Amino acid sequence: MIIVLNENGVKKGIAALKKSFADKTQVFVNGNRVAVQGAVKDDLPTEILKATKEIITDVPAAVQGSRLFHPQDTIIHTPHAVIGGNEFIMMAGPCSVESEEHVRKMAAIAKKGGAKIVRGGAFKPRTSPYSFQGLGEEGLKYLREAADENEMDMITEVMDDEHVEMVAKYTDIFQIGARNMQNFSLLKTVGKTNIPVALKRGMSATIDDLLNAAEYIASEGNSQIMLLERGIRTFDNKYTRNTFDLGAVPVLQRLTHYPVIVDPSHAVGEWDLVTPMALAGAASGATGMIVEIHDEPQKALSDGPQALKPDTYLKMAQKVFEVHQVVNGK
Ligand code: PEP
Ligand code: MN
Repeated sequence: MIIVLNENGVKKGIAALKKSFADKTQVFVNGNRVAVQGAVKDDLPTEILKATKEIITDVPAAVQGSRLFHPQDTIIHTPHAVIGGNEFIMMAGPCSVESEEHVRKMAAIAKKGGAKIVRGGAFKPRTSPYSFQGLGEEGLKYLREAADENEMDMITEVMDDEHVEMVAKYTDIFQIGARNMQNFSLLKTVGKTNIPVALKRGMSATIDDLLNAAEYIASEGNSQIMLLERGIRTFDNKYTRNTFDLGAVPVLQRLTHYPVIVDPSHAVGEWDLVTPMALAGAASGATGMIVEIHDEPQKALSDGPQALKPDTYLKMAQKVFEVHQVVNGK
């Protein structure tokens, strides 16, 4: 249940609600909106009813992420970027941090294309245990240096609870990978930090699954969350790695206040399909994009086939910013 309090009844109403429901349930407050988990309308004392403008009973389980509770967009500030505002946010970099020199070179190219955030995995969730698993903390250091040198922010995946503290020392944004979208213990751990979290949709996750996963982070106190559509598994993924569910973008924007970012690279899995789907991603109204680049994709330690070479990336990025202008232009 969400209670919309009268402007002048906010203070008293919140205090009364917290008192009435203190031991039974959780009370979340956003301005004059109060979400009371589990409570029913008949439980409300008259003093609260008097201070109430509206009661919304049909609310999703993921109430803190809901627009009913938080109508205004969430805007996330990192040192060099504003995510969820009017500007389209480009994030680019290699799939994996491969070496100090390489990630530095890739960050400079990412920046040239308009990216404010450089990506790179130091802990890689590989399908096979024999594939390259990432450089670990060394990789985090290299990515941090590459970001700083280019006055950019960094995003990197954290795969386990035990690494959250270490990754937090380096990163501006935690990436939670598709395979970990429902790792509730990891979600709770990053929810206890104050570092923004980019939560990727699991490959078989519904939109509600994604919103509930985000709620695990928010319920621990961290509401700096962005949602990433990176393609889902469907009945036909022979020619594309996944199915890019772009319909999810406006749906998520309707249901939730969190910024929605698209990842065309993991969605399609082949570099020559990335540009058209990146443009489609921008056209869908996403607030930003994350894309993989590599100067020598055939030598990449992970996800080479989907990496854009620098020239292709630069052309793609320019067009993407143009599409965003068309979609958002007055
Ligand atoms: C990645 O970003 O390199 C990655 C592993 O992505 P996902 O979790 O979407 O597969
Ligand atoms: Mn990748």
